[in-house]
Amino acid sequence: MKKEDCIFCRIAGGEIPSKTLYEDRDFRVILDLGPATRGHALILPKEHAENLYDLPEEAASKVLLLAQKMARIMVEKLHCDGLNLVQNNGEAAGQTVHHFHLHLIPRYVDDGQAINWKPGKPSQEELDATMKTIVE
Ligand code: AMP
Ligand code: ZN
Repeated sequence: MKKEDCIFCRIAGGEIPSKTLYEDRDFRVILDLGPATRGHALILPKEHAENLYDLPEEAASKVLLLAQKMARIMVEKLHCDGLNLVQNNGEAAGQTVHHFHLHLIPRYVDDGQAINWKPGKPSQEELDATMKTIVE
C-alpha cells in the first residue's frame, strides 16, 4: 500500500521525479539529493513499510540481492574504492524519512567521509549478559 503523505512512496511510484538508476516491479533506486559521496543512492521499495521491522519478508529477501547488483554496477562505472550499506531504523538511529530505504554509499580513498562509532569496552560479564538478554 502507498501512503499518501509519504515522499518516498511518491518517488518510488514515479509521481515525483527522481534521478532513477534502476526500477523494477518492487523497487526504485534513486540518487540521494544530499549525497555523502558521488553516486550515493537509495533503494526504495514501492510498497510502503516504515522500517526494517515492518518490511514484508519478500521485499526483505530481495533487497540485498538488489544492493549487490547495484554495488557491482557502481564499482564498475564509478570506480569507487569501497562501498558502505547503511540502513537507519528509528529517529534514535538517524532515520529522517520514515519509509524503509537502504543507502548505497560508494567510497573513495580520501573522500573525507566517515561512517564511524566509538568502540565500547564491555567486560566479558557485560557481553554475556547482553547475549543472554538477546537470545533467551
Ligand atoms: P535517513 O537519514 O536514513 O532517513 O536518510 C534519508 C535520506 O534521504 C537522506 O540521505 C536525504 O538526503 C535523502 N532524501 C531526502 N529527501 C530526498 C528526495 N526527495 N530525493 C532524494 N533523496 C532524498
Ligand atoms: Zn512510503
